[in-house]
Amino acid sequence: MNEQTYIDRAEQALLHTYNRFPVVLEKGKGAWLEDVNGKQYLDFGAGIGVCALGYGDPDFEEALKNQISRLLHTSNLYYTVPLAEAAEKLLNASGLSRVFFTNSGTEAVEGAIKAARKYAFLKDGQTGHEIVAMRQSFHGRSVGALSVTGNEHYQEPFRPLMGGVRFAGFNDLDSVKEQINDKTCAILLETVQGEGGIFPARPEFLKGIQALCEKKDILLILDEIQCGMGRTGSWFAWQQYGVKPDLMTCAKALGCGIPVGAFVLGEKAARRSLEPGDHGTTYGGNPFACAAVSAVFDLFEERELLSHVREVTPYLEQKLDALIERHGFLKERRGRGLMQGVQVEDGRPVGKILQRALENGLILLSAEGNVLRFLPPLIITEEEIDEMIRRLEASL
Ligand SMILES: *Cc1c(COP(=O)(O)O)cnc(C)c1O
Repeated sequence: MNEQTYIDRAEQALLHTYNRFPVVLEKGKGAWLEDVNGKQYLDFGAGIGVCALGYGDPDFEEALKNQISRLLHTSNLYYTVPLAEAAEKLLNASGLSRVFFTNSGTEAVEGAIKAARKYAFLKDGQTGHEIVAMRQSFHGRSVGALSVTGNEHYQEPFRPLMGGVRFAGFNDLDSVKEQINDKTCAILLETVQGEGGIFPARPEFLKGIQALCEKKDILLILDEIQCGMGRTGSWFAWQQYGVKPDLMTCAKALGCGIPVGAFVLGEKAARRSLEPGDHGTTYGGNPFACAAVSAVFDLFEERELLSHVREVTPYLEQKLDALIERHGFLKERRGRGLMQGVQVEDGRPVGKILQRALENGLILLSAEGNVLRFLPPLIITEEEIDEMIRRLEASL
């Protein structure tokens, strides 16, 4: 059957919530994907920042296969070996205190919201606590996570959303202060905004928020779903800022392709928030997902991926900067580590560039505000960066 037949069959059957690129992907190796016609694509999207280890990693696959033949699922009524191991490794990497595993990023955000509200409820016995979130943020598509996502276009058709959310300007400490009152239980932000256009938090902004949170006993929630798990060269992006969140959300590369997320609590939130009966999930933290998480932590260390990201980042930055120099409609580069964005001039639709890149065998992402987004697998090499630049330049 040819490619178009699969595309037509999928379009007949699926709810049309995505405008997909006309390609049917079949397999992958390293940073490369192959479609059903055998065409090769260099992948600088990594399944939206998920496939940090690239494709077809033999050690990762072996760990998954081993777990498949032992035990896939038990429910959270029992303990399993992978559950204990995955939880410990996530706490070791983050220096936080307790973890709750979920199946996705949006569920991790839901859990963090509930933990923050419960923390405040236990403190003052009141309800109606508020969360301050950021404009141009993205935290997921379920109703709670959508309520804290500062994007009018995503929110409008689904009103009324969860109440008690106020929005402030990202990297604007005064606007955060303006939104805080006696009911505020948490401030929520991405350490590096992803979908909103690749905006790293400024150090003085994040430190200012942390100080504010400490002073008023407000919980700091950092969404590390996209920027965490090594993407910026440390396990979590906040570790480069000298701050520490009270709650952190994690997903995407946490399972490197196996669907798993987590919300992780610092000491304060762990001591007094969610208790037995307050929260649950059937799948979350099942032995298969946890075997993936556990293997991901082991393989990141074995391959020294964090230092690899730190080594290869300046090369990517330099090549992108040089590309911008050569093309006047490319305006600026923003980002940290292997999470980079290039601002494209208005009127030069990024979607067209992505389409051309695909034709030239390069997978790229976009972000809000006409931004080209680069999220390669963390195993990416300098040679592959050169190849990406060649294919991108041919697509501009
Ligand atoms: C992708 C993403 C989410 C949502 O994760 P899902 O697994 O798609 O539900 C939340 N926050 C950030 C920062 C993300 O990038």
